[in-house]
Amino acid sequence: MISKVNDSVYLDKVLPAENGRRLLINGTQVGAGSFTLIAGPCAVESAIQLEAVAKLLHSLGAHFLRGGAYKPRTSPHSFQGLALEGLKLLRQMGDKYSLNVVTEVIDVESLPQVAEYADVLQVGARNMQNFSLLRALGQCRKPVLLKRGFAATIDEWLGAADYIATGGNDKIILCERGIRTFSQATRNTLDLASAVVARNMTSFPVIADPSHGTGHWELINPMVKASLAAGLDGVMVEIHPQPEKALSDGRQSLTLPHYSTLQYEISELAPAFGKQIN
Ligand code: PEP
Ligand code: MN
Repeated sequence: MISKVNDSVYLDKVLPAENGRRLLINGTQVGAGSFTLIAGPCAVESAIQLEAVAKLLHSLGAHFLRGGAYKPRTSPHSFQGLALEGLKLLRQMGDKYSLNVVTEVIDVESLPQVAEYADVLQVGARNMQNFSLLRALGQCRKPVLLKRGFAATIDEWLGAADYIATGGNDKIILCERGIRTFSQATRNTLDLASAVVARNMTSFPVIADPSHGTGHWELINPMVKASLAAGLDGVMVEIHPQPEKALSDGRQSLTLPHYSTLQYEISELAPAFGKQIN
């Protein structure tokens, strides 16, 4: 499926017509002329927290709720997520507010359980080259949101996608979430140029995650606008009813009012870039 051209990896079905870059997730289009907004807390913490977020997203007409139930944390002493309880809360809120649930799967063992509750299975940056997980996702029928590893080249990222596609699941969304560089002003360096390159090299929708890509909530609004202007297919952002009390990634989470403003601004701007938000 992969061929090497001038030291770059190209998926064989490269450069499709724009309407080839289209995924339908429970009736909602990702790719083609859509700019998809995926929002939610870094981690599911409680029913109250998640419902506040889901209710807002529903009122804004959004279609995707993100939230981690299994959290891959740098320290084993940090909050690891609510696991099954978190998955149940996500499904409950997804059903109640008509939102597709995006959540991370961290290993092969928990994949059947996560796939039972999620609409989109997220592979985190730390797991981008977990090849047994990628192969297992190839056997799965649910769409996969594949994050770029923070030290992965584009070829490695697309190679990871090819593991899933070769396994039989081509419902893949690529997500640029920032790479590690010498810059200390931000948590990671959001590599939008590489996201555009990846988009030009594959038939998959490509989105950006400016929350992990920058680490600062103040930078999310401008980076979402940059993602839209760059022609990407959407963004994933972290939001929280009380970011200062968040159990993870509060510093990079938008408040709900800030998110409402952002969604409004993007809905106004999107048509200028040939897109509609969903
Ligand atoms: C996340 O989306 O919450 C997350 C852990 O992201 P990443 O894998 O990009 O660090
Ligand atoms: Mn996070």
